[in-house]
Amino acid sequence: MCSREQLKIVKKKILEEVNASRDEAFHFTNEIKDMGGVRKADVADSASSAAELEFNALREKRADDRVEKLRVALYRIDRGWDGMCIYCGSDIPLKRLMVCPDTNLCTKCKGKMELFK
Ligand SMILES: [Zn+2]
Repeated sequence: MCSREQLKIVKKKILEEVNASRDEAFHFTNEIKDMGGVRKADVADSASSAAELEFNALREKRADDRVEKLRVALYRIDRGWDGMCIYCGSDIPLKRLMVCPDTNLCTKCKGKMELFK
């Protein structure tokens, strides 16, 4: 079980990651906007631009999804989650939460989940 103090540290980490992911999403949104202009200007290059546009859109979506997962993690902590694995109830070490602050699974259960994907 994580102490309130430890969870405060995890929350701080989550907020940092939310800001970083938001910045990343914003960056790709701008890239996409800029590419719209380039694509119109250079028709010969449109195939590679289209691929790049799609790639940037994927990265933008991935950053947005990350923000959403982190928000869920913040909500969970604010609602009193104590840092235990929601599947088996074992402790999730602080070290793991600092690397994956949006997780609510221990490494064993996460591994099992991966097998069923
Ligand atoms: Zn578990």
